[in-house]
Amino acid sequence: MMRSYATFRDIQHDLQQGTLSCIELVQHHLSNIKSKAHLNAFLSAYEQEALDRAVEVDQKIKQGNAGRLAGLVVALKDVLSHEQHPLQASSKILDGFIAQYNGTAVQRLLDEDAIIIGRNNCDEFAMGSSNENSAFGPVLNDIDNSRVPGGSSGGSAVAVQADMCRISLGSDTGGSVRQPAAFCGILGLKPTYSRISRYGLAAYASSFDCIGIFGTCVQDIALVLEVIAGKDDYDSTVSNQAVPAYTISINSASAKKYKIAYLNETLESPGLQPEIKDAAASTMDKLRSAGHEVEGIDFPLIEYFLPTYYILAAAEASSNLSRYDGVRYGYRSPNATDLHSMYKKTRSEGFSKEVQRRILLGTFVLSSSYYDAYYSQAQKVRRIIRNKTKEIFERYDFILMPATPTTAFKLGEHIADPIEMYLADLFSVHANVAGVPGISIPCGTDKEGLPIGLQLIADDFEEEKLLHAADMMMNLN
Ligand code: GLN
Repeated sequence: MMRSYATFRDIQHDLQQGTLSCIELVQHHLSNIKSKAHLNAFLSAYEQEALDRAVEVDQKIKQGNAGRLAGLVVALKDVLSHEQHPLQASSKILDGFIAQYNGTAVQRLLDEDAIIIGRNNCDEFAMGSSNENSAFGPVLNDIDNSRVPGGSSGGSAVAVQADMCRISLGSDTGGSVRQPAAFCGILGLKPTYSRISRYGLAAYASSFDCIGIFGTCVQDIALVLEVIAGKDDYDSTVSNQAVPAYTISINSASAKKYKIAYLNETLESPGLQPEIKDAAASTMDKLRSAGHEVEGIDFPLIEYFLPTYYILAAAEASSNLSRYDGVRYGYRSPNATDLHSMYKKTRSEGFSKEVQRRILLGTFVLSSSYYDAYYSQAQKVRRIIRNKTKEIFERYDFILMPATPTTAFKLGEHIADPIEMYLADLFSVHANVAGVPGISIPCGTDKEGLPIGLQLIADDFEEEKLLHAADMMMNLN
């Protein structure tokens, strides 16, 4: 049995001392992947490859030329391109597809000697909030196997929750990192839109898509962000802003006092589970006792969060997913009789009902007769939400809100009604619609022992401050 480590820094210390090896780390995580296979968090575990790489990295550590992530065992959501490994976005339509190159984030992890241990299950094309919408079956929450882990990055959240890896990368288009992090009792960061290159991330809704990071401590997340963020010639939308030394700033300025706003509407929301409201209230009390200012403000635009997000995300998805046509790669229907039926049957058989629903909805809101009523209207509302959110940051450092309206729900509970499922994203889509960074922070449990997550949102490119405050909140008592 390996001892448990609070931070990756402690692991690195022992690796340097020679009291721990990468082989032991990889074996430890592999044994958890095996003993918890019923959770269905991994679509593939790269057992031999990870062990071979561990030998190589151990060697580098001995020689003193190892990278900054030497010994960091990482898992990747099945939407990230990892050269010569399968990439399916948990969809039948990408059956047999093998990635041809490393996405930028993946390449940067490898360049710093991280060890990639496998590929995580998720909702098909990252569309979902429970990980029940995967061609490979649902993922189970390790705390209670009758409950969902959240989605769409459910497998990545459970991989960290069940200690199958140290860190995992997911994607957050409307909450898919922060919501499952909350359901699983771990941390989940969605940085500012454009902070991390999207090169090699399977596109869902390109103006929202963001790679996010799961971990159990803020230091680990800060280190990974430091490595993978920043400019990239392969993504013209990525920011050129310099990447700060996040790991250093967490530890400095520790006595800083913040001004924090909460949106009254979030705490008064009718669907909010009372224990989550209590957890938010007691965290606010603790923050006040620690000398921070916490104030409620009105933000009536909250009722537009979900409609704006679901119109725009579906519109972008309908365009992005048009490339899966059976011609170039992945699944092709064997039942086709001519070209037109090949397209139709491939897409009808290859995509699940939920993905088809999004494509149809997106095509509808982009159609010439409805474009102005839905798509362009939603774009305008998005701009207003962003502007009003930015105004809050003129007066406050952060917005604090629940990460989710409820704790992890039961498998099957929301499958019948898509709108009920979409409501799980009520609080998380705000940061994506506005483009700003957010982090989900574990904050106690409900009566049944299910984790509660609170979310802290900051202004564009304020990850330094956000991570500093998240670390402070992890240590509130
Ligand atoms: N649950 C949301 C959706 O289905 C968010 C997904 C995501 O962030 N990838 O669109």
